[in-house]
Amino acid sequence: SLQDKLDKALHNISGRGKITEINVAETVKEIRRALVDADVNYKVAKDLTKRVQDKAIGQNVLTSLTPGQLMTKIVHDELVDLMGGSQEGINLSDKPTIILIAGLQGSGKTTFSGKLANYLKQKRSKKPLLVACDVYRPAAIDQLKVLGGQIGVPVYTEEGNLNPVQISENAINFAKSNSHDVIIIDTAGRLAIDQEMMNEIRNVHQAVKPTETLFVVDSMTGQDAVNTAKAFNDVLNYNGVVLTKLDGDTRGGAALTIRSVVEKPIKFISTGEKMEALDLFYPERMADRILGMGDVVSLVERAQEQFDEEEAKRLHKKIAKNEFGFDDFLKQIHQIKKMGNMKDLMGMLPGVGKAIKDVDISDDSFKHIEAIIYSMTPEERRKPSTINMPRKQRIAKGAGRKLEEVNQLMKQFEQMGKMMKMMQGPQGKQMMQMMSK
Ligand code: GDP
Repeated sequence: SLQDKLDKALHNISGRGKITEINVAETVKEIRRALVDADVNYKVAKDLTKRVQDKAIGQNVLTSLTPGQLMTKIVHDELVDLMGGSQEGINLSDKPTIILIAGLQGSGKTTFSGKLANYLKQKRSKKPLLVACDVYRPAAIDQLKVLGGQIGVPVYTEEGNLNPVQISENAINFAKSNSHDVIIIDTAGRLAIDQEMMNEIRNVHQAVKPTETLFVVDSMTGQDAVNTAKAFNDVLNYNGVVLTKLDGDTRGGAALTIRSVVEKPIKFISTGEKMEALDLFYPERMADRILGMGDVVSLVERAQEQFDEEEAKRLHKKIAKNEFGFDDFLKQIHQIKKMGNMKDLMGMLPGVGKAIKDVDISDDSFKHIEAIIYSMTPEERRKPSTINMPRKQRIAKGAGRKLEEVNQLMKQFEQMGKMMKMMQGPQGKQMMQMMSK
């Protein structure tokens, strides 16, 4: 991955006093190769590494820094610049605000439409309406209905009507008379760019005059993503880009190149199939992520969103009184699961991203733990100290797991209890303060 290669490239000059033309040349070449490997457009990569080189050469490495760190900082700043510098939100000023979603089939348009509706409802207190305009694929309409049902957002459909312009216009009237303030129109895509699709989306665009037109693109499609982004931009002159499937084997390249090729900001990134797996795009954080510094800020934010203040107070009391039991543990697991895909979350932690690249961490990894806890009696869950050997054997049998797994869980649980107690003491407070800096 890009991250691995940059690590390696930067390692080459670490431990030397001054960045010179000789020691930087090799590194720069490796950075460029890594960027190109990650599907960054060759010219974009070349320009970027040229700027990095110019900035790096001749710089004295402060004693407090290694050349590698300095170089990382320079590359980081260039990456941030390339991706647009700051976060750009979406414009919700029109009443109603109309958002048109465009992109190829399979790019994640329908999923994103659902996520966006969920985001606007939950975080921006809007009353969105979803509109199904993918008239050629009944399955797509059903999919949007299912998503709408999950997040509690109504979906406007017209069974049998094959005219997306008409459907959109009717939907807008429906939205106005039902006091919806945001209308999200999910359009039809094709597997590849074709004239008919482009005409159709152009017609819808002209008819509804959206406040925001967002182009959705699958980040796994690499260089093609950039070509598609360009083709759609020529027709729609859209306001922003949504990069999907960044939870996969991340091709950060698309993010890097799209901005500089179409000169449109990336507004959202989509990192999983769950409705919550949507983040605003922060160039800073993306650069951190590409360089392996970890997307800690996003992680903390997502954790905070799922965090229930009352529940936390209740837990604190329980821990203080040594009453933290397996039911509480289960609740914690469910909270973590709500935060989104496990691997994705862990990948955001500095140093972890690489380590778990090839490890299979599915949301199922909790299933066994849950099974073990479910086969405990309520009394055992409340008072884990009562779980002796015969009980452990019974629990293992009931859960269909090995005795060692039960033992391991008991041990982890004990350690967690100790750690949580410690976090509540003066030392823990200090640690939390350090972490929040
Ligand atoms: P559309 O044809 O553009 O509407 O695409 P869909 O929304 O139907 O998405 C195509 C497939 O990609 C579906 O199986 C989605 O569940 C999946 N998908 C969408 N967004 C993401 C994402 O961010 N991460 C992952 N892993 N899968 C996604």
